[in-house]
Amino acid sequence: MSDSSLTHDIQSRLSELADVTLDDRLTFADLTTLHLGGRPRTVVRCATASAVAEVVTLLDAHSVPLLVVAGGSNLVVADGDLDLVVVLLENDSLDVDVATGRVVAGAGAVWDDVVAAAVSAGLGGIECLSGIPGSAGATPVQNVGAYGAEIADVLVQVQLLDRPTGTVSWVPASSLDLAYRYSNLKFTSRGVVLAVELHLSTDGLSAPLRFGELARRMGGTARWPVAAVRDAVLELRRGKGMVVVEEDHDTWSAGSFFTNPVVDPAVADAVQAAVRATRGDDDADRMPRFPADGGEKLSAAWLIERAGFAKGHPGDGAPVRLSTKHTLALTNRGAAKTSDLVALAREVRDGVREVFGVTLVPEPVWIGVSID
Ligand SMILES: Cc1cc2nc3c(=O)[nH]c(=O)nc-3n(C[C@H](O)[C@H](O)[C@H](O)COP(=O)(O)OP(=O)(O)OC[C@H]3O[C@@H](n4cnc5c(N)ncnc54)[C@H](O)[C@@H]3O)c2cc1C
Repeated sequence: MSDSSLTHDIQSRLSELADVTLDDRLTFADLTTLHLGGRPRTVVRCATASAVAEVVTLLDAHSVPLLVVAGGSNLVVADGDLDLVVVLLENDSLDVDVATGRVVAGAGAVWDDVVAAAVSAGLGGIECLSGIPGSAGATPVQNVGAYGAEIADVLVQVQLLDRPTGTVSWVPASSLDLAYRYSNLKFTSRGVVLAVELHLSTDGLSAPLRFGELARRMGGTARWPVAAVRDAVLELRRGKGMVVVEEDHDTWSAGSFFTNPVVDPAVADAVQAAVRATRGDDDADRMPRFPADGGEKLSAAWLIERAGFAKGHPGDGAPVRLSTKHTLALTNRGAAKTSDLVALAREVRDGVREVFGVTLVPEPVWIGVSID
């Protein structure tokens, strides 16, 4: 591979920085929960926020292509050699103030460790986000959400390295344009989150439950003790393969592979009519459709199943399959290549489009490869 931008001089300047280690052994198969993807130029491990800022600023100043990586749980990366440097976030500081409910976490902190610490301190507001893989710093990037909650509910501000200027400052959550699985940090080079500050409730109770399946499990939509909600969420997630367990290939995924489509109400009507015609009234009447910004939100998993893709598709022996626990997760069964994943992603997207006229959009960030 030819790349003149990452010179020996830059590599030696990187290795001289405090709290920085260069690691040439790691591939994206080691770094991602899909266990897929080729070899970056090098991996620069950063143990502190200032190390992250210095490394990114140095690489940007020399126009060296880079990718910020933390938990690797929302990444689809091409096979083969990649002409980019991975900046690996390992700044995992965590400060929990039980009295005020203020939580400040370094970007590289494991998100579920942050949730566990908050819950054991009796702080409420993130218990529904239990079990989401990845890092604290990535939670604003796609405004992570689950079981009726999202990080936007509790995020006060983020410490941001602004890449165009190289400056570090705390910026309010409102400047990130947080929306359903989106912020202005996703798919852009705007900046790197170095730390997040959350404000949680201190009365030991969860936020009111908004998600039917969880509310039914708990016994209603009220507020419940945070630890009980966390336990229920983890149990529900485990049943769907949505908690990473290394020995379970149903969890070698990027989580939900497609976002739930938001469509015009007329399109939702047409989808429901198509279901009615082919599958009958009972199924059509149960079709999930919810009001959302810009139209109505449909369930991607429900559409995938109705388009003929069952759990585990395409069956035993395939290198990439839909999870046997959830149709929305594409999973590596152990020996897959990214090209296998892309082929299945296209098959599912095209199949749903053919049956319902709705084009599903992938949720993860794609590097060096595309579904189109
Ligand atoms: C089993 C499973 C279940 C999942 N369930 C959910 C769920 O319920 N809800 C949900 O929303 N998501 C879910 N996800 C997706 C994923 O866990 C989240 O998107 C998570 O926040 C990604 O964090 P990460 O540290 O792994 O990010 P990475 O995969 O390392 O990075 C993802 C993207 O964010 C960028 N990025 C990462 N950190 C930063 C930073 N500090 N500053 C700027 N950019 C950054 C990267 O450059 C990359 O573009 C799931 C994934 C898996 C594998």
